[in-house]
Parts: sequence; structure tokens; C-alpha cells
Amino acid sequence: MTVPAPGTDATIALGANLGDPLSTLRGAAAALSRLGTVSAWSRLYRTAPVGGPPGQPDYLNAAVLLRTTLPARDLLRGLHSLEAQAGRQRRERWEARVLDLDLITYGTLVHTTADLTVPHPRAWDRAFVLAPLNDLNPHLPHPRTGETVAAALARADRRGLQVHADTWFPAQ
Ligand code: ATP
Ligand code: CA
Ligand code: CA
Repeated sequence: MTVPAPGTDATIALGANLGDPLSTLRGAAAALSRLGTVSAWSRLYRTAPVGGPPGQPDYLNAAVLLRTTLPARDLLRGLHSLEAQAGRQRRERWEARVLDLDLITYGTLVHTTADLTVPHPRAWDRAFVLAPLNDLNPHLPHPRTGETVAAALARADRRGLQVHADTWFPAQ
């Protein structure tokens, strides 16, 4: 009999479009093991920037499944410290960045406070989040609306989104 690991399944979206995005994403995926156990990796996507200041480079995007015993706000704090370690600076909203780590879902939790909203409020509208999530689990329901990732991806605008690599972690 397999005993499930204790904790909560969280999905984390990773994005980078400054510096060396592939090596930053690989480093972040490795460092996420400090916050729990990473059990699945999406494919790697190349996406045209959506919103934000004009002239940004394309993004590399991915998602991972993380089993964690951390409460959601401590997990978010941990994600922010990994962003800072990668050299993330915060100036303008949706500007280019060396690393963005968003907490997309945390089990079935639906929660809104000043510094944390789960599920991530824009995730189910964004192809660059939904395509990697679909690799992890197309049947994953939105914790509030019940809409699956696959259904949301089918209605999302997928222009500017392409698979960049089937495997990207661990570094080959
Ligand atoms: P977006 O939120 O639209 O993806 P962004 O990732 O560029 O934009 P950030 O500047 O990285 O936005 O984060 C803005 C704020 O969002 C941060 O202060 C963070 O605390 C807050 N936040 C709230 N909920 C979440 C979440 N689920 N995941 C990540 N950040 C969150
Ligand atoms: Ca984001
Ligand atoms: Ca973010």
C-alpha cells in the first residue's frame, strides 16, 4: 500500500524573460524542493508577453506540482524569497523580470487577503498558465467555479504560445 506524503498539493507557475530564463527556471525548479516535494513538471513554453510595458522579450513559462506542508502564506513568502535570490526587482507592474513564481492553486483552498489570493485571480484566463497546468492535470477544477483546466484552456486565447521543449528539468 502506498501512503500519500503529508501536506497539500499546490500548483506553481514559473515565468522568466530577462537574463538566462532557461537556467533561471531550472534553478528555481531545483530550489522549490526547499518548500516541499516537486512531483511533476510541465513542458516548457515560449510565450509572447501579455500586458505590461511594450518591447519586452518573450517569456519562458512552465508549471510544477508541489506537495508541501507549509501553510499557503508561508509558501508564498518562500516563492518571493526564491524570486529575490534570482535577482527579481519590483518596480512596475507586469514589467520584464528574471523570475516570477505564482501560487496558482493550494489544494481546494479559496482565500483572499491583502497579500494572497488563491486560486490566483487571473490564472484561468491565461493560456501561458493554463497550457503548463494542462500538462500537469487537465482535470484540475478551479476550486471556486469547478471549471477544469482543459475547459479553460480550450476557451483561452492561445496566440503567441508555443511548446519550447518537452523536457527542461533536471538540466540535460
Ligand atoms: P500577476 O499577479 O498578474 O501575475 P505579477 O506576477 O507580475 O502579476 P507580482 O508583482 O509578482 O505580480 O505580484 C504582485 C503581488 O501579488 C505580490 O505582492 C504578491 O504578494 C501578490 N499575490 C497575491 N496572491 C498571489 C498568488 N497567488 N501568487 C503570487 N503572488 C500573489
Ligand atoms: Ca505572474
Ligand atoms: Ca507574481
